[in-house]
Amino acid sequence: MRLRNVKGSREHIAINEYVIKDAETYKGTWKDLFQDGKPIHIEIGMGKGKFLMEMARQHPEIHYIGIEKYSSVLVRALEKMEEDPLDNVHFIRMDAEYINQVFDKGEVEEIYLNFSDPWPKDRHAKRRLTSRQFLARYKNIIRENQSVIFKTDNRDLFDFSLEEVKEAGWKLDLCTFDLHHSEYLEGNVMTEYEEKFVKKGNPICKMIIHYE
Ligand code: SAM
Repeated sequence: MRLRNVKGSREHIAINEYVIKDAETYKGTWKDLFQDGKPIHIEIGMGKGKFLMEMARQHPEIHYIGIEKYSSVLVRALEKMEEDPLDNVHFIRMDAEYINQVFDKGEVEEIYLNFSDPWPKDRHAKRRLTSRQFLARYKNIIRENQSVIFKTDNRDLFDFSLEEVKEAGWKLDLCTFDLHHSEYLEGNVMTEYEEKFVKKGNPICKMIIHYE
């Protein structure tokens, strides 16, 4: 994603009601914060939030938390939310590397990774959101037998992720190298990047994994 510094984005985020500040203070007590017993699903690297908001519209019985590293990107999602507010959408501005400081074991039911940054250099492999290092972090927060769902058009990143999944002992429940020409397309919610890549004719890969 091309990043432009958006003037005032930090200030906007600091006062926005949809952004959860000091998120680490809720570790172990997320259910108390929402007080309605609804499960929590997160999208890591949610960008401008199109997928997250559409999922939230379709599933009011779930709380969706979008996690985004950059203020200048998050602020675009906030602008969309202000136009069409949803009370089951929340945001955290943070680097997902520190996700274990925010959620405790079993607090998250599903984790979505959509079109994650590929970090093509080998020496940056551990920064990929599907690396064994990240899978170990997800294992610490996800409820037993729940899923991580990953989509990308980047075949190298997808192949790397398949190896990491195996290495880290996760189980593969679904795998397709061409989602849009597969039996798994029904109910698919498109992300911003997905729309762009599908228009270009790139095949979209998808996997669903869980840890027992
Ligand atoms: N998921 C969106 C989509 O499919 O349209 C955006 C994809 S964009 C290529 C990747 C996003 O992930 C960017 O907004 C980037 O800032 C964010 N990101 C990358 N690494 C991250 C990390 N470690 N923690 C949180 N967000 C991250």
